[in-house]
Amino acid sequence: MEPNQQYDLVIIGAGPAGMTAGIYAARAGLSVVMLEKGAPGGQMLNTAEIDNYTGFETILGPDLSMKMFEHTQKHGVAYAYGNVTKVTDHGTYKLVYTDSNEIYQTKAVIIASGAKNKRLGVPGEDELAGRGISWCAVCDGAFFRNQDVVVVGGGNSAVEEALYLANIVNKVTIIHRRQQFRADQAAVNRAKAHPKIVFELDAVVEQFNEENGKLKSVTVKNVVTGETKELIAQGAFIYIGLLPVSDFVKGLVDMDEYGYIIVNEKMETSVPGIFAAGDVIQKELRQIVTATNDGAIAAQSAYKYIEALGK
Ligand code: FAD
Ligand code: NAP
Repeated sequence: MEPNQQYDLVIIGAGPAGMTAGIYAARAGLSVVMLEKGAPGGQMLNTAEIDNYTGFETILGPDLSMKMFEHTQKHGVAYAYGNVTKVTDHGTYKLVYTDSNEIYQTKAVIIASGAKNKRLGVPGEDELAGRGISWCAVCDGAFFRNQDVVVVGGGNSAVEEALYLANIVNKVTIIHRRQQFRADQAAVNRAKAHPKIVFELDAVVEQFNEENGKLKSVTVKNVVTGETKELIAQGAFIYIGLLPVSDFVKGLVDMDEYGYIIVNEKMETSVPGIFAAGDVIQKELRQIVTATNDGAIAAQSAYKYIEALGK
């Protein structure tokens, strides 16, 4: 099949990294398209409140997503639905394939496909997904008004989303596998002081139990004593970390053992003309502010690469 679309730059993913790259590329005069398989915003769409993005003391995740998207549109960044399945390198041009049979020919690519939620892999999790088990408090929290829910995990996502849920539900139990939290101390202190939040520490989920096709309870095991118990819960929110979304470029660009793409300080991957930015790259701090930073650098590097191609 022949390519049916042509751009200077294709950006895969319209989260904060991809949208920022789009703005910088368009302002540099490149013809640029962002391909997105969901909706613009990425993980910000699943985040209740964002309190640490410079210039916004506090802002709802969906609102910041919309502001960033409107900003891209103001600068004429093309936006298209597309679930990218493959990228191929042909030296001076690349081909980007989507599952709806579009083929984009482009001089450069920025991979900004982010990360997705990890699963626990325990019995009942797959069967009860969407029937009590969720990975998004801001999307599903309201279904559990005045009910009891558990949140699994000890990072910022778990603790902050537990605080959000506590404003809606009757009780939140945070289940975490050890005593120390990975989350910021400030968030942990707020959760500890909240009257509707309780903790089940040194505990792991053994299984999710159902009644009439919906979540009824969670069996947890104390990893120190070996004791198990059943916590009644109509809802369970799992926040145990992330995995990079990079399968569609496996074998093309260098990655670490987890699938995070390895880049240098210019956001260059191991393939000339292919750049990566945001949560999908190997790095220390995965935040909106670092994703936008990476996106800006990737776009600037792509611009310089395309300019050099023309000479
Ligand atoms: P993402 O936001 O993951 O966006 C990637 C986009 O790429 C997605 O829209 C996805 O649909 C798309 N995509 C993926 N694969 C393909 C494909 N094959 N084809 C087309 N499109 C594709 N950070 C903060 O700074 N402050 C916070 O308060 C905060 N709260 C958070 C709360 C939660 C619950 C979570 C999970 C994260 C939070 N973070 C927060 C982290 C922050 O959201 C991420 O670091 C940031 O969104 C990463 O941006 P990104 O653009 O790299 O990737
Ligand atoms: P995370 O920081 O990787 O934390 C994951 C948590 O889940 C850890 O506490 C971990 O326990 C636990 N865990 C992992 N696998 C588990 C398993 N199989 N069973 C039980 N528990 C398990 O993930 P996150 O909280 O989703 O955060 C992801 C990224 O987004 C981070 O970079 C984070 O900083 C960022 N983020 C930022 C903010 C913010 O800035 N306000 C908010 C949310 C997220 P251990 O601690 O024992 O390893």
